[in-house]
Amino acid sequence: MLPLSIPLRAACASSLIALLLLVPSRPITAQAAFDKCVESLRPAARTARVNDATWQAHMRGLERDERVLASLDAQPEIRLSIWDYIAATVDDERLQYGARMLQQHDSTLRRIERRYGVDPATVVAVWGLESNFGQGLGGMQLVRSLATLSCEGRRQTYFRSELFAVLRILQAGHMQADQLRGSWAGAFGHVQFMPSTFERLAVDFDGDGRRDLMQSVPDALASAANFLRNAGWRSGEPWSIEVKLPRRGSAPFNLSGEGRTVKRALSTWTARGITRVDGTPLVGKGLTADTRAALIAPAGADGPAFLVLRNYDAIFRYNAAQSYTIAIAHLADRLRGGAPFVTPWPTDDLGLSRAERREMQRMMMARGHPISAADGVLRASTIAAVRAEQRELGLSVDGRPGQRLLQALRAQAAAGR
Ligand code: CA
Repeated sequence: MLPLSIPLRAACASSLIALLLLVPSRPITAQAAFDKCVESLRPAARTARVNDATWQAHMRGLERDERVLASLDAQPEIRLSIWDYIAATVDDERLQYGARMLQQHDSTLRRIERRYGVDPATVVAVWGLESNFGQGLGGMQLVRSLATLSCEGRRQTYFRSELFAVLRILQAGHMQADQLRGSWAGAFGHVQFMPSTFERLAVDFDGDGRRDLMQSVPDALASAANFLRNAGWRSGEPWSIEVKLPRRGSAPFNLSGEGRTVKRALSTWTARGITRVDGTPLVGKGLTADTRAALIAPAGADGPAFLVLRNYDAIFRYNAAQSYTIAIAHLADRLRGGAPFVTPWPTDDLGLSRAERREMQRMMMARGHPISAADGVLRASTIAAVRAEQRELGLSVDGRPGQRLLQALRAQAAAGR
């Protein structure tokens, strides 16, 4: 409503001009098309056991969310290496926070291990990577995101089934719609389940009758453990053996044809000259000659190499990316007191932790770059600043921030430049 002191005509005129200038006709048309699409989904929703009351409560008057479409088509601005990803995910902050969470939720985690056979460190590592231990649950309204993706963009059929699943979850009263926020793609809660995954595998572990992955840490952690058990988790087995690859003269070990799905007996790998990274035999420590394992070397034959076992596949099922799987598994190892990988990453410019990314941003802000917050996130403004500084400091200009740039910026700051 307008305050009475403002002349009515002036207010109307100025808002009309603002409307004409700022609102192109396309979003209105897009919203109308969206409304039509939403209405057309109703019969399918009924078939999918979403009742009319639920539909009315959550779908009526829904506005499409342009941002999710931008995210759907977004390409990464820069190419990061596996060592960048591990440096920013398995960093000191996450190790310290993870250790605190292990302590704080000790009795819950032990009960989860007894019921699902997944150890506390693994569960906490999933939590740490998926939502930074509940600190990054995602701010997008889930119903709105999934409805938008159901009507526009790629993979509409997939997102429609996720939309119907989230409506059934609300219908069953597990969570409230206004609490149900997540990533643009529909993953939500402490361990970032998609709605269909929730329906298959989420559990009520605190015994209040609701499966609440937004507010109940016990429900969320037990659900992650249930997911891993369902994906074939083997209690007490490691995810991998870090190995040393033999070289033939100057030629690196031939990795062609190998990969996560190519499993061979440890006896076969032994015959090919592979040992544990400390030179000891592969077989032993609970692993036998016929234990099957696949060879992965995420940075090539000159970097860390692993024979991965069944638990690697279980984590891979959670989020089908090699770097993600290695980060979870390695974070869990480190939380158990394990050491960093023995073989160094094959680079002379290692990646940055989140704290180092923030420090870099602060230094670049002090040098006049328009970065809105030193939050460690590599948005376009930070990447543009990285490029500008790389050019300024005579480094190769690729927009990727690493130790080399950090050291150069520190030197500049120390010299008062
Ligand atoms: Ca519960």
